[in-house]
Amino acid sequence: MEPHLRNIMETATKKLVPLNPDSEDISHMMEMDSCFWAEQNGIKLIGGTIFSLDGCEYMGDIMRDEARHIAVMKGAQARITTLFMLRAIHALINGRYPQGSIYYFPNKIAVENFSKTRFGPLIADNLCIRRHLKNTNSVNIKRVGRSFLRLLGATATIDIQGKKDSSSVRSEPADEVILDERDLFDDAMADMIPDRLLNSLLKLMVELGTPTIPDFGIHKVFGESDQKYRMIKCRACNGYTELASEFPKSVKYERETTHEKYKPHFACIKCGKEIFVSDGEYVAKYPDRYDPKYPKEGISGYHVSHFITPNCELSMVMAKYEAALTDSSKMGLFYNSMLGFPYIPLEDRLRQQDVFNCCGDDVMRASSVVGTAMGADIMKTNRIVIAEKKPKDGAKVIYMARVSGFDALYNLVIKFNVKSAVICLRPYEESFRKFQARCHDRKVKVFGSVYPASDSRKGFKKTDEQSGVYTVNRTEMMDKSHSWVKSGKLELPRKCEEVIVFAREVCNTAKVLETNDLTGDRIYKYRPIGDKQEHYRHALNYLMLALPNLHDYQIGATCVGESKSNYDPLKWNL
Ligand SMILES: [Zn+2]
Repeated sequence: MEPHLRNIMETATKKLVPLNPDSEDISHMMEMDSCFWAEQNGIKLIGGTIFSLDGCEYMGDIMRDEARHIAVMKGAQARITTLFMLRAIHALINGRYPQGSIYYFPNKIAVENFSKTRFGPLIADNLCIRRHLKNTNSVNIKRVGRSFLRLLGATATIDIQGKKDSSSVRSEPADEVILDERDLFDDAMADMIPDRLLNSLLKLMVELGTPTIPDFGIHKVFGESDQKYRMIKCRACNGYTELASEFPKSVKYERETTHEKYKPHFACIKCGKEIFVSDGEYVAKYPDRYDPKYPKEGISGYHVSHFITPNCELSMVMAKYEAALTDSSKMGLFYNSMLGFPYIPLEDRLRQQDVFNCCGDDVMRASSVVGTAMGADIMKTNRIVIAEKKPKDGAKVIYMARVSGFDALYNLVIKFNVKSAVICLRPYEESFRKFQARCHDRKVKVFGSVYPASDSRKGFKKTDEQSGVYTVNRTEMMDKSHSWVKSGKLELPRKCEEVIVFAREVCNTAKVLETNDLTGDRIYKYRPIGDKQEHYRHALNYLMLALPNLHDYQIGATCVGESKSNYDPLKWNL
């Protein structure tokens, strides 16, 4: 922005001098700056609020960001939806997005709700917007100036061979796409949305939402950004405090003079004096990841906690916090909507450290004389885990690797003296069946494993001895391997590159409570997170299923290499 225009803007924001709306500079400003335009027009928002940056300075910073890719991880009532809606309308009025803008919600119901309660009134209440709109048949598609603003639900409409397709995320191009409530999007849909921008010179993308669980949805995108947090400067000591990360230390109580009540206020974490949200500024945690001089590169990310929003009532927030401390089931919601952080209870996701805690001192082996069990997840690159059986549900993993093809798998069966294996039945069932038959000839027991589409079936495991298939309840299986890692009964090889990959993939899943949109039933499910590679976790699951099929005679019969441990007089049946 040119310096003299910046001066005008600051004058206008501080309301120092009344501005002449006919001046050339002002009309130029109105055209260039969506924030200035919204303030000068006194745009009416829901509940009779007038758009203003007064007390919402963070909104100005986000609204004026020219980054090609923006991520906003936010708490409740942050007004970010309004902000990007106004930014899009302003750009369309001024002809900046010739191919239009698409505002995506997770589903059709969310679109209808937004359209009725927010979008409709925004148009009806504001002439400065209404006069640029042309009539269209659809309430969710508006012609603004010469191009379109579309509100769409990113829901899959067709499901062909497990591949989701949706006309709403394909068809027409756009210059800007906005994904609101990012964590509720179907992943397959979210991945298709950027295709809309392929023909655009601008390729603007905004992802925003309240986080739910770590390494997922908006938290994952924000994690890849420069991560700007609102830092509040202390008037007393000039130190900075980030209210959400420092919570609850960033809140102090003071006795009110007139009532015998304690009233909370924000406090500097350095000196303890009261601090004020209006003294905040955005500071990037990783400034090297995004440079405003190169808006097309990297992701510009913002964190907006409920604390810095205009309607934050601190005593109400503290009451919610107290309630969550006594009822831990409320803590997740408190983190997500108040602090704007993701949250998962310790028992619902394994940490990589939990996996490393299983590591012993032994390096991986190259072969085995003792009979072993194998679990394998078959992908383009298979994940294989081979272990010896130990007493009381224990096991010692002696080998893990990523290899390709069933021949390589068969070689490992020979090399490691595998007596029992469980392998995912699909997607390569035909090759699996050949492998199963080949192993059968060598008296190696091989089962294929499938997770049924729905976990409603009672019981953990159904065995079909005839065709050699286990049908396994996926959620229960994941619970079991989770507890196994935590139990101390699983020994892994010494920490090395492959074990690090193993740890990452074992932890790339988290248990979440999901609601079925149709039936309203709430059930626990494991959902892939992080880079969504969770193959080693399934290989570990299959190993758990394979171990019980390993008989003691298979392990003991060839125990020649372990003469020392066999020399145990207590076992001589004396
Ligand atoms: Zn201070």
